[in-house]
Amino acid sequence: MANSETGKGQRPVAEETVQLLRALGVPDKSWRNGTRTVRSPITGEIIGEVPEASPEDAAQAVARSVAAFEAWRTVPAPRRGELVRLLGEELRAHKAELGRLVTLEAGKIVSEGLGEVQEMIDICDFAVGLSRQLYGLTIASERPGHRMMETWHPVGPVGIITAFNFPVAVWSWNAALALVAGDSVIWKPSEKTPLTALAVQALFERAASAFGGAPEGLSQLLIGGADVGAVLTDDTRVPVVSATGSTRMGRIVGERVARRFGRSILELGGNNAAIVRPSADLDLSLRGIAFAAMGTAGQRCTTLRRLIVDGAVYDALIPRLVRAYSSVGIGDPREAGTLIGPLIDKAAYEGMQKALDAARAAGARIHGGERVRADERPDAYYVRPALVEIGEQIEIVKHETFAPILYVLRTSSLEEAIALHNGVPQGLSSSIFTNDLREAETFLSAEGSDCGIANVNIGPSGAEIGGAFGGEKETGGGRESGSDAWKAYMRRATNTINYSRSLPLAQGVSFDID
Ligand code: NAD
Repeated sequence: MANSETGKGQRPVAEETVQLLRALGVPDKSWRNGTRTVRSPITGEIIGEVPEASPEDAAQAVARSVAAFEAWRTVPAPRRGELVRLLGEELRAHKAELGRLVTLEAGKIVSEGLGEVQEMIDICDFAVGLSRQLYGLTIASERPGHRMMETWHPVGPVGIITAFNFPVAVWSWNAALALVAGDSVIWKPSEKTPLTALAVQALFERAASAFGGAPEGLSQLLIGGADVGAVLTDDTRVPVVSATGSTRMGRIVGERVARRFGRSILELGGNNAAIVRPSADLDLSLRGIAFAAMGTAGQRCTTLRRLIVDGAVYDALIPRLVRAYSSVGIGDPREAGTLIGPLIDKAAYEGMQKALDAARAAGARIHGGERVRADERPDAYYVRPALVEIGEQIEIVKHETFAPILYVLRTSSLEEAIALHNGVPQGLSSSIFTNDLREAETFLSAEGSDCGIANVNIGPSGAEIGGAFGGEKETGGGRESGSDAWKAYMRRATNTINYSRSLPLAQGVSFDID
């Protein structure tokens, strides 16, 4: 139920932000009287004015990062892990404040703001373990008296460009791994969420000072727009650029980094679907769908955007979903009972309405989607999530609209459902709700989902850090976080050692001088 009481009795966002930034150790000068205005999506009020870096500042940061890298790469990896452990401790100690700041700056509900910080803590723990497990292979040599092996070395400064919707966790997925790998990092956060980035930088500096001896400039923050990001994409001294954001941005970044033969880790837009089959547990499906589609106000890269439902269960599921959509708590994300906070800004709201207009013009049946609380909060954009029953997967359905719109498509076979599922340009996350083992395994097989993440009986969003995270096609192909994603932050050397007294050549080649 839209709760008209939500938000009452709350402290003004700006006042709360000041308290939190101070508690997190962010100096006033780094968020007051700057040139870039920061607004909270909760009320639209100004919560900071941050100074911005220029492209020249960015180039100097790269030079500092190179010097830091040259020192850091010689520190033993388990010792590097100790710095990340201390960062995790700072995050634990400041979880409440940082989580709350995520809520104020990005508009996430309280448990999601805290969850984002928990994810940072989890990846720090993971990286600490990893610092003793940067394993290479030994390989059988075809030559007698020879041994082959693979070693992994630090690669250099890593540029990290992040999106507004995970303003702190995405940095940590990259930075925790890069730091134990022996790299320095330079972070360009979203221009919409610089305050949380400043807070994380302050926590990093505390960890570095407790560590003692971390090189100056090991982790740097550059607040600015695309021109500052472009320095990272174009500078040959930055061998790896990890960029999270829209496919539009990734197309530019990917090309620019490739032009100079750099390595990019691209984490771009998703258009995630769930298939519901006749054998599905509908109660469980309903809950999984509701969280994945409406949570974070539809502003997750893994948000469920397409629901592909078999005709046999359509009428048993969709009316229940419509009821859930009409009664979900929308409002101030700080308020208990709120499940849907605001959209990030007016442009996001307009993008949503444009998509709904296109669906309407195609004859879709739309439930919800309207703006709410506009009288009370004219500068904030709260919407009722939209459920859109649509006959066909038309062009707008194939596009990622970064707002809570769930398109519902009716199907009659698993083959048809998988074809629809894969029939979009993006390939991030996916799921199937079924109790039929054959269907579940088919979905996970080579002829099933074409995404980087494929789930059974859970929705597509809410990944854990232990697995590699990322997707295919226009999602960019990058992998971050768990599994062996660390390899992207290191360079691999294949070593062959001859411990014999002769020099046999591979493939039987002979080259005898004399
Ligand atoms: P965005 O593309 O507008 O901005 C992302 C970042 O890229 C910002 O820091 C921005 O300043 C920077 N940027 C933009 N143009 C650039 C350029 N030419 N050179 C260098 N940097 C540039 O994205 P957003 O609106 O902040 O975030 C929403 C998008 O991010 C959605 O598409 C969402 O799916 C995607 N996302 C993907 C993942 C993932 O892991 N796949 C995770 C979170 C968000």
